[in-house]
Amino acid sequence: MPLKIPPATQSKFAKLGIRTPFDLVLHLPLRYEDETKITRVADLVPGESAQVEGEIIHSEVMFRPRRSLVCQLQDDSGILYLRFLNFYPSQQKQLAVGKRIRALGEPRMGFFGDEMVHPKCRNAGESTPLKQALTPVYPTTAGLPQLTLTKHIHAALNELQLDDTLPEQIRQRLRLPEFEPSVKLLHQPPPDTDEDALLARAHPAWMRIKFDELLAQQLSMRVHYRERSRRVAPKLGAHNKFTDGLLKDLPFALTGAQKKVWHEISADLSRPHPMQRLLQGDVGSGKTVVAALAALQAIENGYQAAFMAPTEILAEQHYLKLRDWLAPLGIEPVWLTGSLKKKDKTAAAERIASGETMLAIGTHALFQTTIEFKKLGLVIVDEQHKFGVQQRLALRGKGTTLLPPVRGKAGMGVESSSTHTSTPTLPDGTTSQSTRPANNASQVAGYLQGRGSYEPHQLMMSATPIPRTLAMSYYADLDVSVIDELPPGRTPIVTKLVSDARREEVFERVRVACLEGRQAYWVCPLIDESEALQLQTALETFATLTQIFPELRIGLAHGKLSSAEKAATMAAFKAGELQLLVATTVIEVGVDVPNASLMVIDHAERMGLAQLHQLRGRVGRGAAESMCVLLFQKPLSELARARLKIIFENTDGFEIAQQDLRLRGPGELLGARQSGVPMLRFADLAEDDKLLDKARDIADEMLRDFPDAAQGHLQRWMANEPDYLRT
Ligand code: ADP
Ligand code: MG
Repeated sequence: MPLKIPPATQSKFAKLGIRTPFDLVLHLPLRYEDETKITRVADLVPGESAQVEGEIIHSEVMFRPRRSLVCQLQDDSGILYLRFLNFYPSQQKQLAVGKRIRALGEPRMGFFGDEMVHPKCRNAGESTPLKQALTPVYPTTAGLPQLTLTKHIHAALNELQLDDTLPEQIRQRLRLPEFEPSVKLLHQPPPDTDEDALLARAHPAWMRIKFDELLAQQLSMRVHYRERSRRVAPKLGAHNKFTDGLLKDLPFALTGAQKKVWHEISADLSRPHPMQRLLQGDVGSGKTVVAALAALQAIENGYQAAFMAPTEILAEQHYLKLRDWLAPLGIEPVWLTGSLKKKDKTAAAERIASGETMLAIGTHALFQTTIEFKKLGLVIVDEQHKFGVQQRLALRGKGTTLLPPVRGKAGMGVESSSTHTSTPTLPDGTTSQSTRPANNASQVAGYLQGRGSYEPHQLMMSATPIPRTLAMSYYADLDVSVIDELPPGRTPIVTKLVSDARREEVFERVRVACLEGRQAYWVCPLIDESEALQLQTALETFATLTQIFPELRIGLAHGKLSSAEKAATMAAFKAGELQLLVATTVIEVGVDVPNASLMVIDHAERMGLAQLHQLRGRVGRGAAESMCVLLFQKPLSELARARLKIIFENTDGFEIAQQDLRLRGPGELLGARQSGVPMLRFADLAEDDKLLDKARDIADEMLRDFPDAAQGHLQRWMANEPDYLRT
């Protein structure tokens, strides 16, 4: 190590994400102070930071409007007031009458005239030289002064080898500056640097850093993508026995988009390498039937399929639907969730282990240590976004894949390696030691380790449309199929924004819709702070609505019901026995009741865009004209207003997601904020899409033609990332 961070301050540096000397190099300034020139007092522009130099001609502690030190600094053009609300005796001494001072700050019209509040002051002799570079201001943390940070960064810049990881011909083709001059410029920009371009991160030096960051990410994802073709999965060819049977029995024909994605999936399944495909399609686009077809192709080949959903309500709905669809084919799925009675769970587990059942449908309980599949060929994960991108990546990083490799031998005679064999590998030699808290991810991961002779194929489904740039970044290790068409005969949903003051009118709409034979959802306000409060709110809403609509049959669904109760309520609603369903956001994903045509979302201003879009997607599934009423409470925050406007103006999930990316950044969108998936620090996926396109192409080119350079680049940028983001 060319330089060391003193142990005493290591934790402070760690807070800033600085663990290695190279991290110091990438700790880039937030902004700059210009101490390279002196501005005359008469030329100061309010609001524009500047440095002045002059003599203190007056200095006094004043008590009005409040206690403060007020000095007058004079140069040959005028007088500027310097004002300090908190000050030390030493400052008072420094700013005594007769002293020559350089003051840097933002001038404004003040109480006394032109003034700077809390300017940065230093003594100036006749010959004090001006700075040769803009002074960087770094993001820092308490107890770590700018000066200390700056000193360490400069040491790192001077002592580290910062040679280029980009092959020269590629660098020139992209017209990017070299790495070392780029970082040096960003840390110490010469006086003539275009400061606006620096601040807007549009300067060529910034472009280089952003490109390198995107390239590292693309390399890591593409390495994973390529590595998959070395792993082994059963060949599940298309025999079109059960699949054709289902297609023949369905009351509808597949849309063109469904056919297209089904062919993509079917082709993947028949290859001897694990499919890892993301099936994207807006709410209501008809992903479930595609999943059923995929399961049937596995079953045709004598392999089991597992279908996992994030909530019990959704899992049960899939179970009921597939049970009906597959009954004529003589296939009987088994149902498994955590809340089953022990006896039933054991029975289900036995049918799965013996291979008596070919299709298991359920929640995460499907992948607990006690569940063993006889011959698992395909895993389907619905509403994959609910599981979070970091969970997916973390599991992938375990060396195998998202979900279980299988114990059975399956007559393949090929052992797949459970360690990484990818090029390029990082020479850190460590094995993954996840310090992640025990969550579903590590639970499944634990299940994976050290087992298996082959991997099942995986189909991940998501209705959360991912903006293109985000998909390219965080899903670049997957193949993606998109259903970009809704089944015919849907009438567009009308969205209404209604202030809470007009609640009565909304009640009337609910009454009319239900009395006309249609059904409605009433979604209770979201209470983030406490589950108990959330429950209480749901109960109160239910009580109130029961009073308001004595003539309606009303049900209540919330997360605290037992699964039997939940299931009974959903079944009754589906059968039309209940007319109005009061529910918490447990119905957010996947619930499908075509006769429901009115959705009321109470306190819509509390919900996120993706959530609103999902909820709204619960209606508009049948032929009747559907409406979604967003009830909101005033006053609206800026963000809430922006969200409601977007959801009001757009029905296309992709457009909504794109706007959401602008509004909230990628962390939230990926469901990754809390769990700390490292996001891009420099590049901005909403702004830098062209750079990302280039990074994607160059990543493939480098892996093909310059593997050493690719490895060097990953080493430089990813050494510090969690295992699963490296390679
Ligand atoms: P999602 O993609 O949101 O999971 P679903 O699979 O739940 O959507 O499908 C929504 C509804 O559309 C279901 O009632 C389903 O049976 C129906 N559906 C699916 N495909 C078609 C089609 N090609 N034509 C008509 N209805 C369809
Ligand atoms: Mg669905």
